[in-house]
Amino acid sequence: MSTPTPTSATTATSAAPTSNAGAAGGLLTRGQLTALLIVALAVAWWLLPEFTVVVMSYIGLYSIVAIGLVMLTGVGGMTSFGQAAFVGMGAYATAWVCTSPGAVSTLSGLVGMGGLPWVGLVLGLVLTFAVAWALGSVTLKLSGHYLPLCTIAWSLSLYYLFGNMEFLGGQTGITGIPPLTIAGYSLADPRLLGVVIWAVLLASLWLMHNLLDSREGRAIRALKGGRVMAESMGVDTARYRIKLFVLAALLAAISGWLYAHMQRFVNPTPFNLNIGIEYLFMAVVGGAGHLWGAVLGATVITLLKQKLQDVLPGLLGTSGNFEVVVFGLLMILVLQRFAEGMWPTLQRLSSRLLRPGKVAEPRNVATLEQRALPAAGTVILEARDVTKRFGGLVANNQVSMSVKAGEVHALIGPNGAGKSTFFNMISGVDDPTEGEVRLMGQVMGKNPSRAFAALGLGRTFQHVRLLGQRSVVENVALGAHQRAHKGWLASMLRLDRGEEAALLAEARRQIERCGLGEFADMPAASLALGQQRIVEIARALAGQPAVLLLDEPAAGLRHLEKRALAELLKQLRAEGLGILVVEHDMEFVMNLADRITVLEFGTVIATGTPSEIQTNQRVLDAYLGGADDLAAGITK
Ligand code: ADP
Ligand code: MG
Repeated sequence: MSTPTPTSATTATSAAPTSNAGAAGGLLTRGQLTALLIVALAVAWWLLPEFTVVVMSYIGLYSIVAIGLVMLTGVGGMTSFGQAAFVGMGAYATAWVCTSPGAVSTLSGLVGMGGLPWVGLVLGLVLTFAVAWALGSVTLKLSGHYLPLCTIAWSLSLYYLFGNMEFLGGQTGITGIPPLTIAGYSLADPRLLGVVIWAVLLASLWLMHNLLDSREGRAIRALKGGRVMAESMGVDTARYRIKLFVLAALLAAISGWLYAHMQRFVNPTPFNLNIGIEYLFMAVVGGAGHLWGAVLGATVITLLKQKLQDVLPGLLGTSGNFEVVVFGLLMILVLQRFAEGMWPTLQRLSSRLLRPGKVAEPRNVATLEQRALPAAGTVILEARDVTKRFGGLVANNQVSMSVKAGEVHALIGPNGAGKSTFFNMISGVDDPTEGEVRLMGQVMGKNPSRAFAALGLGRTFQHVRLLGQRSVVENVALGAHQRAHKGWLASMLRLDRGEEAALLAEARRQIERCGLGEFADMPAASLALGQQRIVEIARALAGQPAVLLLDEPAAGLRHLEKRALAELLKQLRAEGLGILVVEHDMEFVMNLADRITVLEFGTVIATGTPSEIQTNQRVLDAYLGGADDLAAGITK
């Protein structure tokens, strides 16, 4: 079956980058509305009929799993069909601890009968952590469809494992699971357990919201912007993907633990692949990139399924699993109508009635890591006899060049000369077949691009790689990723506010410096392409680089913008940065560069000052053989 990919479903300018964007005239802020709804639910909870309470509890359980999928699929761009299996692990772990005679007799002496479910929770989390980590490290390195396929396989095998394990009760499952007790207080009443379920749900929403609204959250979002981009910003993408996968699995396991103590028995059925697919539906239908979309999706799908099971047999005059068919058709309809899921639509409607909230000022703004730039004239980046072969094609042939602190070095050459390939060699995106690259005097070998970033290499991309939906500020702040260090847990618990404020302030400073101050809070995709290139420069600068690599920065800029860019680069050069620029605009290059290196068919054919290059016969021949406009530019 094909699942809709939430990654491609979003349009450039529609979603507001921050949650508090809205009309000024509303009565409440979004935060106040959320608080009000929670209070209303808390009051109504004691008045609702028992049946409604149970349905609400199920919605809560499903939502917890779906939140994990929103993080994994909607935000991180990885698809898992296997979340139900992790729910099963959480459920079976506690069921086994609480009912197996061996476990009970050993453990109850230590923790008491009331402590068993908590041991079950720990066991479930530990097992899930181990399995998810192992599974993630095997599959997440591979690209494309391996993860979804692997989660399907994993989901199927665990389902049969549950069904065939004697000590887990086989197909019949495990009965007699005790209710949860908290401080000696039994939660056998569904109404009480429901409170715990919703408390866990709300806490998860809060923690995930905080995580996304942080340095680590930006790094997680960057996973979707492509590996090369994220790694160049210093993000260890393989590690982040595994951590995200584990996080989603742990949320599923917690849901399973609660489920086991609500249902009081477990069997394999609710943990099969079908349910895994349903969880994915919930996340996607609600709005794959939005945490509250998970709750919306879980609610809609739970209620819909229930209605269909009631109504269809009467309509069709026969019973059977027809709801599955209708369900599938409805799903297609919903996704046709709301490609981004339903939450963004709801958000747009509601933002007319809400007023923007205030962002709290942090008390202690932290200081970011600072890098001391090397003295002007120091060689920062050096390539020695770099050769790159793609099969029989020699894209770079023994290219040697260097970039010094305080100079602009331009790399020019006709299309296909090997400039972008060389860029990849000296930024760690790809490794040379022969030769070596040194950055800050260190031989870089096969180091990944985040190691280059750590040593002070900042770069932009020929094809702009920004997160179009996110604001310019957020995009630029990603560039400062390696200058701060608070981790996932600190972010979830809001212990990163001082550091986060410093990162955002640094991002705004760089945006101002690049002349884009008025666009700082707009979605990056709403800017003109030329401006997006400048945003990439600001992002690189936020990392406080010693050397800056720019791949065609002037492409798509108007005359005045080009002049402003040249001024900016001159200023950076005066501050001591080394700049390597690939550029087709010869006027721009000749006015700016201190040195120029010319590539043709992967080989350096000339190096020198602009005036030397302009009179070099070999260069003129190369360009005359190629694009005429370049030749015109060169001789201008
Ligand atoms: P430029 O940026 O100067 O236009 P490139 O570095 O993109 O040139 O390309 C140089 C040559 O290497 C071209 O002939 C291109 O087709 C080839 N090339 C680039 N990348 C690859 C690759 N990943 N696999 C095979 N050939 C490639
Ligand atoms: Mg190129």
